[in-house]
Amino acid sequence: MPVPGEDAFRAEVRGWLAASLAGDFAPLVGSGGPGREHEFVPERMAWERLLGDSGWIGLGWPEADGGRGLPWGHEVIFYEEYARAGAPARVGHIGEQLLGPTLLMFGTAEQRARFLPGILAGTELWCQGYSEPGAGSDLAAVSTRARLVKGDGEEGGEWHLDGQKVWTSLAQFADWCFVLARTDPAAERHRGLSYLLVPMRQPGVEVRPIVQLTGTSEFNEVFFDDARAAAADIVGAPGDGWRVAMGTLAVERGVSTLGQQLGFQREFEAVLATARATGAIDDPDIGARIVEAWAGLEVMRYTALATLGRPAGAVPGTEPNVNKLIWAQWHQRLGELAVDVSGAAATLAGPGYELDNAQRLFLYTRADTIYGGSNEIQRNVIAERGLGLPREPR
Ligand SMILES: Cc1cc2nc3c(=O)[nH]c(=O)nc-3n(C[C@H](O)[C@H](O)[C@H](O)COP(=O)(O)OP(=O)(O)OC[C@H]3O[C@@H](n4cnc5c(N)ncnc54)[C@H](O)[C@@H]3O)c2cc1C
Repeated sequence: MPVPGEDAFRAEVRGWLAASLAGDFAPLVGSGGPGREHEFVPERMAWERLLGDSGWIGLGWPEADGGRGLPWGHEVIFYEEYARAGAPARVGHIGEQLLGPTLLMFGTAEQRARFLPGILAGTELWCQGYSEPGAGSDLAAVSTRARLVKGDGEEGGEWHLDGQKVWTSLAQFADWCFVLARTDPAAERHRGLSYLLVPMRQPGVEVRPIVQLTGTSEFNEVFFDDARAAAADIVGAPGDGWRVAMGTLAVERGVSTLGQQLGFQREFEAVLATARATGAIDDPDIGARIVEAWAGLEVMRYTALATLGRPAGAVPGTEPNVNKLIWAQWHQRLGELAVDVSGAAATLAGPGYELDNAQRLFLYTRADTIYGGSNEIQRNVIAERGLGLPREPR
């Protein structure tokens, strides 16, 4: 397919979003952001399918894999227009932005043919099963076990999984989970791990939502009790899961933050509007923090664009860690500013712990410096791998 010019593409995206968010999906405008993942879930799943049907998922993926093969500049335009239109937070982003790129980098042709179409159509939702009660920052300590039980034929058989994951975002809605599991108990730490694709809707999987500060549940505990995955549903070789998992994390900390940052722009604008409405803007300290927030937004935008400009398929270096460190702290400060400009009203929740957007933003952003690798871990990676500083004692 010929690549449309950027202006024509922008007009097409804008027109499509305006028309599609005007009808049945109009109530979804602005829904589902941080701390609000419970809003309109079935409707947002339907929206995901509409995006898929209309060819708006996998814009940058190769055409041979069902994507549209568009240059990254077009993806940027899509994200910009998506944020500008206030289109709902995606329920399918883990599949599109984490697993899909991982399969493009490490998956077999059969795996790409089996799993990419469901992501592209918005019909199969994914979650990420890395963290465990005893393995977060120290991810190599994963103890969920998987063993291959052979079927009758050489190729047959299934992985049998036992163990527990925790903090699994959107597991309550997911059809599939990419799971880091220990397949060789004798091998040391990260050497014995494998990357398995596990169906969530089966008797051996139990999902228990965790109530968060925001009063809602984005993440969950996930228990595997003799859960099954097909023998072929392993990405990379047995024992090669660490390399694959790190590939996913590099994507997580990089490209996929762009859409999120455009959401930050809307949040910033809401904070500015509140500061004007409450008169907080007249306070010189608040004014200075607003200017600083705006400048940070610009810096993050250009940093993310620079990271995105790398050739397709190249696994980036430590730039994504730098980006994560910057945006996490920026977003947390915006959450603080959001409640400060609201004044005393921000200290009260509504009946039944009903929170307004500023309160949710403040509470949710406490998590930003933890998930996707905490600040301390990002600094360790930058120090050791980026700058070649001495390794921290282990
Ligand atoms: C909102 C949210 C969503 C999440 N979603 C998912 C998900 O979908 N899937 C998933 O698998 N996980 C998910 N996580 C989990 C997340 O990846 C972990 O919380 C994170 O990796 C930190 O691990 P931990 O919570 O076990 O903390 P720990 O590793 O126990 O860390 C505790 C503290 O010690 C510090 N620390 C640990 N090791 C070091 C060190 N070597 N040097 C210096 N300081 C150190 C940490 O920085 C942190 O401050 C999510 C977390 C949050 C908050």
